[in-house]
Amino acid sequence: MDEKITQCGIIEDLIPSYVDEVLSDSVNDAVESHLNECPKCQEALRQYKLKLQNSQMESAKTEAAFVKKMKSAKHYLIGMAIGAAIPIVAFIGFIVYIVILTVING
Ligand SMILES: [Zn+2]
Repeated sequence: MDEKITQCGIIEDLIPSYVDEVLSDSVNDAVESHLNECPKCQEALRQYKLKLQNSQMESAKTEAAFVKKMKSAKHYLIGMAIGAAIPIVAFIGFIVYIVILTVING
């Protein structure tokens, strides 16, 4: 009984590595054969995968929010550029107008 509990503890510790497929073949086999006969560790594996999925979804959400934020920042920058360009263009137009008037009159 105690031996099985200890083994379950070890298997549970190995589950993240097992899911990441970074275990050596012999350890991987040991985890698999234990999982085949231990519902508790099967559940632990299921829970871990679920948690992993949720955290991936969470990071995908964060990424989407970040992209959205970047896009709206881009719009904001374009708006600012246009807002800044209009008076500059008007100013240049005014200067050109003055120069043309000066040339014509001069
Ligand atoms: Zn177990």
